[in-house]
Amino acid sequence: MSTFKELGLNEDLLHAINDLGFETPSDVQAKAIPLLLEKESDLVALAQTGTGKTAAFGFPMLQKINVDSRTTQGLILSPTRELCLQITNELKLYGKYYKGLNVTAIYGGASITDQARQVKRGAQIIVATPGRMKDMISRNMVDISKIEYSVLDEADEMLNMGFYEDITEILSHTPNDKNTWLFSATMPKEVARIARDFMHDPIEITVGNKNESTNQVSHEYYLVNARDRYQALKRLADANPDIFSVIFCRTKRDTQKVAENLIEDGYSAGALHGDLSQNQRDLVMKSFRNKQIQMLVATDVAARGIDVDDITHVINYQLPDEIETYTHRSGRTGRAGKTGVSMVIVSKSEVRKIKSIERIIKKQFEKKEIPSGIEICEVQLMSLANKIHNTEINHEIDKYLDSINALFADADKDELIKKFFSVEFTRFFNYYQKTKDLNVSDSSRGSERESSSGNETRYFINVGRKDGYDWMKLKDFLKEVLELGRDDVFKVDVKDSFSFFNTEKENQEKVLAFFTDFKYNGRFVNVEVSEDRGRSRGGRSGGKRHDGGNRRRNDDRPRSERRSSGRRSDSGSRNDRRNSSYSESSGNRKDRRSSSESRPRRSDGKPLSDRPRRSRRRD
Ligand code: ADP
Ligand code: MG
Repeated sequence: MSTFKELGLNEDLLHAINDLGFETPSDVQAKAIPLLLEKESDLVALAQTGTGKTAAFGFPMLQKINVDSRTTQGLILSPTRELCLQITNELKLYGKYYKGLNVTAIYGGASITDQARQVKRGAQIIVATPGRMKDMISRNMVDISKIEYSVLDEADEMLNMGFYEDITEILSHTPNDKNTWLFSATMPKEVARIARDFMHDPIEITVGNKNESTNQVSHEYYLVNARDRYQALKRLADANPDIFSVIFCRTKRDTQKVAENLIEDGYSAGALHGDLSQNQRDLVMKSFRNKQIQMLVATDVAARGIDVDDITHVINYQLPDEIETYTHRSGRTGRAGKTGVSMVIVSKSEVRKIKSIERIIKKQFEKKEIPSGIEICEVQLMSLANKIHNTEINHEIDKYLDSINALFADADKDELIKKFFSVEFTRFFNYYQKTKDLNVSDSSRGSERESSSGNETRYFINVGRKDGYDWMKLKDFLKEVLELGRDDVFKVDVKDSFSFFNTEKENQEKVLAFFTDFKYNGRFVNVEVSEDRGRSRGGRSGGKRHDGGNRRRNDDRPRSERRSSGRRSDSGSRNDRRNSSYSESSGNRKDRRSSSESRPRRSDGKPLSDRPRRSRRRD
């Protein structure tokens, strides 16, 4: 194990490194720094996120440039504004003992004239995103014709984001005899092409295996029905009370949706995607860094700049289209020497992708079960106990102690503890004790439908295409009038003048009760249990109405669950409510939210997760 001094770094840098508290060089630093210091050569370095690449190119670049000159000598291209700022800040820290050093960040979404002014002041190093850089070159705001060192940081990401043309264009304005240092976590074909087309005999260094993800991260997958994805996500969060995670979705829309649902369900969550303004994104990232947000739901593109070190879990809400992307996602956790978990929620149709990922990352996934309600209750209870145990006493309470003691004069310690814990625990318990098992068995392909169809009810409804419905519209309509969750109505099959749909059996009473005398556009809408269970293709088979006599008697659900359907049986106002709820396209979502698995809340209406958030914020 070498020291920074042995790598050949000068006193100014060593001094700064000491201030930063870096003790030993990381692998990529130990390999790259001496090479770059000694040789004037091109370099391709493959290393995972979090391995210290910034210093691997930053230290040699700082040592090699001339700070007495005001000419731009180093150009670093990086994929996002966040990374750009992060690298700039790091370089400033590394170079804090360099008098006259000027490192300038250039990125979109901020004033181009301000940036041009900073460059004019004599930036020896420019750190830029390709888009803005190209812009400034075309406006003659920068001069990179004399640079000696160019760095392509996170090259695979930049190419993923479609910056190939921009990079080519930018490099065409740089001298031929500069050195180019390319850093990348993975080596897809496009990166190899850059190395071939723009570099001269680059030295190649690899830290760990090529394309292998970090050892600090364990990989798990959870097999559930596609419609249970969101419930599964919530259970994973509830089973990890101190979770600090990034949740990846495939589209901006899903990202926004999942974040909104989590917030509505009482979690401290936020969304990060490209449809947000830069200002909104900055705010979300700030809250995430401060840990006010425990669950950051993000798209792959937006998450590229996330440089937070202590992320405990990465959750793949959906798998990425490109397998390479998985490496980047999981690389967000297990950074800076910490361990992390990368979880994947998959449905049966995607499970084979897990095998392909295993081949690429050369690591095995562990198949795990979504925790049961009772497991979650135990975890929450013990987490609460630990929190109480570690809580510092607030002596403001002292003056009320006499009155409180008087109230509990007869209670012994056990009783007191039980009561105290019940305040929080009962809600979790009531909520979770009746929830179903979300796991799907791995065995035969057909079993998903068979095993679940026993718990499903298929209905016939006398509206169809002629009434202007397609399956999405009908699904939305049913969800809305029945106050069911997003995935509670499924297998919707619309025919010309009638349709079919499914719900879980537990919702059957609610569905039938609602449609007993429901009129829409002056016409009775009739819903019956269909004998055609589960099959989505079959025609109308003379649906037979279930015996309605059992419905009321069986309603032994706790009050909170009964609420939404209970309102329906208040026949006085029923039709009005229905009609208004149907015509209201954007009513209060909370009102319509599914009661089947929403998060337990405190009696004051605040989400339970409020508590850890608050106490942490004070730290
Ligand atoms: P990468 O670019 O490979 O993703 P970074 O350069 O962003 O990694 O470094 C990740 C984190 O590790 C940063 O917080 C950085 O300050 C820290 N770091 C880098 N090198 C060292 C080192 N030798 N010792 C301790 N911490 C380091
Ligand atoms: Mg980096």
